[in-house]
Amino acid sequence: MQFTDLGVIKDLFNRNGFSFTKSLGQNFLINPSVCPKIAEMGGCNKDICSLEIGTGIGVLTKELALRSKKTVAIEIDMGLKPILDETLSDFSNIDIIFADFMEVDLKKLFEEKFGNEETVICANLPYYITSPVIMRILEEKLPVKSITVMVQREAADRICAKVGSRECGALTVAVNYYSYPKKLFNVSRGSFAPAPNVDSSVIRLDIAPEQKYKVCDEKLFFKIVKSAFSQRRKQMINPLSSELGIEKHKISEIMTDIGIKTTARAEELSMDDFVSLCNGIQKDFVHN
Ligand code: SAM
Repeated sequence: MQFTDLGVIKDLFNRNGFSFTKSLGQNFLINPSVCPKIAEMGGCNKDICSLEIGTGIGVLTKELALRSKKTVAIEIDMGLKPILDETLSDFSNIDIIFADFMEVDLKKLFEEKFGNEETVICANLPYYITSPVIMRILEEKLPVKSITVMVQREAADRICAKVGSRECGALTVAVNYYSYPKKLFNVSRGSFAPAPNVDSSVIRLDIAPEQKYKVCDEKLFFKIVKSAFSQRRKQMINPLSSELGIEKHKISEIMTDIGIKTTARAEELSMDDFVSLCNGIQKDFVHN
């Protein structure tokens, strides 16, 4: 049975008394070509495991399970359970956990469910928590090979922008710190039920096997990035000085030393500039 068919979906909903919850980002995929593409371009194969965030009625879960050794999926809405019991009944390699992804102990989950198996994350993300979900996976340094996710087109463009360009934001820098981001393909709003007001894109973040940038203090690095972008179209020296509690002329000296204009805006800096700035500030102020 085709679970991307609107008639089939309506019947499943009616029989199980289910209706969409907009606040949970429940826009389900009804374009049958998208989920197989996410699973394949997300690197699923029979030697590795996959983790999904947000099953909906299981259209992507099924494609992941068909192609991977084992699929674990986390879904917040318990109301989907009877539907998933039906749509995924043929699979013995799927484990669904009904919980809020943001509350799950991910390190424990990885140990218990995947052990040392190579794992990829694939998801059509609920858009209201796109950045927190991505940041959580990256910051916790979970042992995953890649993260392939559908996000709003605007978020995809921001994440995959060049660091040092107008489109770049704090999330761009964070994603580039941990991974190699790439936009895979676009998906139109008509591919979902109900159709959202925006188009989407699928992106893949290939996790760097080793630390890409040598920063002395990761916490300080992200504090600097966050404050530098807090007034993105203005000179970054002002928010940096107030957020870090360091006088402007001292920050200005460090910027000059490492070859950054003191009038620079955050969107003009490269990854190496952010790293040098962090290491300069750390050397001069944090340890003194
Ligand atoms: N994968 C399905 C598809 O492609 O049709 C559903 C995608 S839908 C955009 C997002 C799904 O994430 C919904 O099923 C929603 O209930 C679930 N969800 C929302 N917030 C969540 C959270 N915090 N933790 C886990 N799942 C969540």
